[in-house]
This record gives sequence, structure tokens and C-alpha cells, in this order.
Amino acid sequence: MNNLQQQDQEIYDLIQQEEQRQADKIRLIASENYVSSAVMEATGSVFTNKYSEGYAGKRYYEGQQYVDQVELLAIQRAKDLFGADHVNVQPYSGSPANLAVYLAFIKPGDTILGMALPHGGHLTHGSKVSISGKYFNAESYSLDQETGTLDYDAIRAKAKACKPKILIAGHSAFSRVLDFAEFRKIADEVNALLLVDMAHFAGLVAGGAHPSPIPYADVVTTTTHKSLRGPRGAMILCKEEHAQAIDKAVFPGIQGGPHNSTTAAIAVALKEAASPAFKEYAAQIVANAKTLATTLNEQGFHLVTGGTDNHLLLIDLTNKGVTGKVAAKALDAAGIVLNYNAVPFDPRKPFDPSGVRLGTSAVTSRGFKEAEMVKIGNWINAIVSAPEDQALQAETAQAVKDLCAAFPAPGLEHLSKG
Ligand SMILES: *Cc1c(COP(=O)(O)O)cnc(C)c1O
Repeated sequence: MNNLQQQDQEIYDLIQQEEQRQADKIRLIASENYVSSAVMEATGSVFTNKYSEGYAGKRYYEGQQYVDQVELLAIQRAKDLFGADHVNVQPYSGSPANLAVYLAFIKPGDTILGMALPHGGHLTHGSKVSISGKYFNAESYSLDQETGTLDYDAIRAKAKACKPKILIAGHSAFSRVLDFAEFRKIADEVNALLLVDMAHFAGLVAGGAHPSPIPYADVVTTTTHKSLRGPRGAMILCKEEHAQAIDKAVFPGIQGGPHNSTTAAIAVALKEAASPAFKEYAAQIVANAKTLATTLNEQGFHLVTGGTDNHLLLIDLTNKGVTGKVAAKALDAAGIVLNYNAVPFDPRKPFDPSGVRLGTSAVTSRGFKEAEMVKIGNWINAIVSAPEDQALQAETAQAVKDLCAAFPAPGLEHLSKG
């Protein structure tokens, strides 16, 4: 980055510091990952200089000889990897992808039914502070208070009562596998379109470590930067009959020109995700999450749903006498980065909730396995048991750094010399 250093020392320095932070910390934020150097190079390529409103073969600008090939490759790789009829790779991110789906199929005031935000749903599934809750009549289903898991009969009853045009399955903070066949049945019973938002677990689907929603859903949206380990972006996968409606909704419905450097990087990430190594990666993400869950359970932590089937864990810290925010800040000081999170039926406010959320996608990318998960679980227990102990935090941060040095993160190998 010689040019950047000469042109803009401030930004250069901040990038260096962020690189070091990502190298030295145990990153457990469930939506984050480390992309490969190949994905990073495509993200930073000259395709950022190109405008290409429209779709391959039907663009509004000339000079698309190579952009068209990039986009078609990304689409073909996504179709092959997920077995989808049609794919749109242009959404700028997961939130606009969901908005495009609403624009394609419903009108303002129509009813959508998704998982409630405090129960693990996403803002864009009908939260009142989001356009999805302001422009549409957003209804929500909750988790069962006793089991912390989904009650399909309750979802069915809710769907029959509110008759949604779109039924949404998918989440940002739920640690169990979804029953897509059951969601399909419910959608059919109320004549709704079934949208599955697999933003969090797309990488697990790609690697065969999570059931695929593709055979069941009318439309599937996903981010590309979470467990899928690509650049920040999104895709919409759908049945052939919805292809036109989806493409028109993305462009010109809500977007202008696609971010072509992102599209190139998505194509690279999809090629990686189709490799045998990625299958192992996906299985290891889940194995790591399960080991971390067992370790934390043994230390008396209360996991929502009791454990995990995917990459993430949601911990209710009430019995530990610590709030999510206090725990998250103490852990960050100890080199373990996660986020505070509401738990189902949380009596506390969203900005100061009772829980924390953890995910294993990023640490698995740097090669952590079960033995490292046990260490992390023990560190979390020690820090959360004494959130005021700054000496312990400093000591743990050093131990975390030493462990990280032995497992260089993708793209950051030059920073972790063991
Ligand atoms: C992350 C996420 C999104 C939104 O993605 P952004 O890229 O942050 O806009 C949408 N849906 C779900 C379920 C998510 O987890």
C-alpha cells in the first residue's frame, strides 16, 4: 500500500491498525469473517471504476466486454453452488436485497410475517424502526418461552390470523436449524410467498453443513460476507418464474449501477465455496460452535435453546449477574470480540440487553479447532466472572495474542509471526 501511505497517512495508519487488530484478536462476532487474499484483491480491483447499469447483454453504458463476463460467472457459480434457477448478484447488501424482494411482490400496507427482532429476526424483517415495518404491515412470530426455540404451530396460527403476503424465515441470532419444509407448508396454507433470508448461514448451506432452503423457498436472499466468506454484498436466488420480477426490483427498482468489484469478489468467493476445503470449513464451523457451547454449558452459562446446530450461540447472562454490555466490553479488553444482544423475552432494553451473541465463522477461517474452543470458553468464563478485573483482562489479551500468532488469519499472515 505504498501509494496510499504517500497520499493519505491517516487512513493508511488506520488500515494498518485494523489489520493488526484483526490479526491479534479472537473475533467471535457471528456476522463477521476473514476473506481470502484472492477475494480482497478482486474487491480492490479496477472494476470499481466501471459503470454498468442493467444486466449482461442489456446495459445502458458501453465498455462491458469484461464486466458482463464477470457478472455471468458470478451468477453461474451461485446457481451451481446452491442449485438455484435464477440468481441476481447486484444487491449492494443484505438490507437492500430484502427491500428489493418486497418491492417485487407487495405494495405498501401489505402484510409481512417474520421472526421478531428481539427473538433473532433481522431489522429488515419488519422491525418498526426499519422501512420494512414503516411501509408494510409487519407482523411477527416469537420463540417459545420455555424451549427458546421455534413453535411451528404458533407460527401457523399467527399466519392464519394475519394472512401475510410474504412469510419470512431466517434470522441473525438463532442457533438452531430451520424446518424449511414446515415453513413451506405454512406459506401454502395461507397462500403466501416464502422468503428465506439465509444471510447468516449461507456458508453452511454452501458447505453442506446446514439444510438448503432452495428447494422450498420461492425466494432466498443472502449476504455474501458472513459465513459465505465473500466481500460485503448480497444475492437473491429464486425460482425461474420470479426471475423478471426480482431483476426489475433490484434495477431499476431500488438501485443504480452494480458494484462490479464486489461482483468480481463474489465470483471468487463462490469458487472457493465450491471447493472440498470449504466443505471441511463449514463442518468445522459447526463442530467448533458445538464445542464452545459444551464448554460454556459446563461453566454454568445459560445458552438460549440449550446449544447450537449452526455457527452461533446466544447466551443469556442473567444468572451470571452481568449485563451483555458489561460482559462484551470486558471481553473486548481481553482480546475477545463479540456483541451484546437481546435474548428472547429480554426484560432489558435493546441498547443494554441481557445477552451476548457469539459465532465461530471467523475463528474457524484462521484454523481454530476444538482445542482452541475449549480455551476460549474458559477465558470467557474467567472474564465474565470478574468483569472489573483489568489485570486479568490484560493478561488474557496477551494469551489471546499468543494463540492468534500461531494461527495466522487469511490475508494477514504477514502480521502473525508465531
Ligand atoms: C446481516 C443480515 C442482513 C443484512 O445485511 P446487511 O449487509 O448488513 O445489510 C439481512 N438479513 C439477515 C438475516 C442478516 O443477518
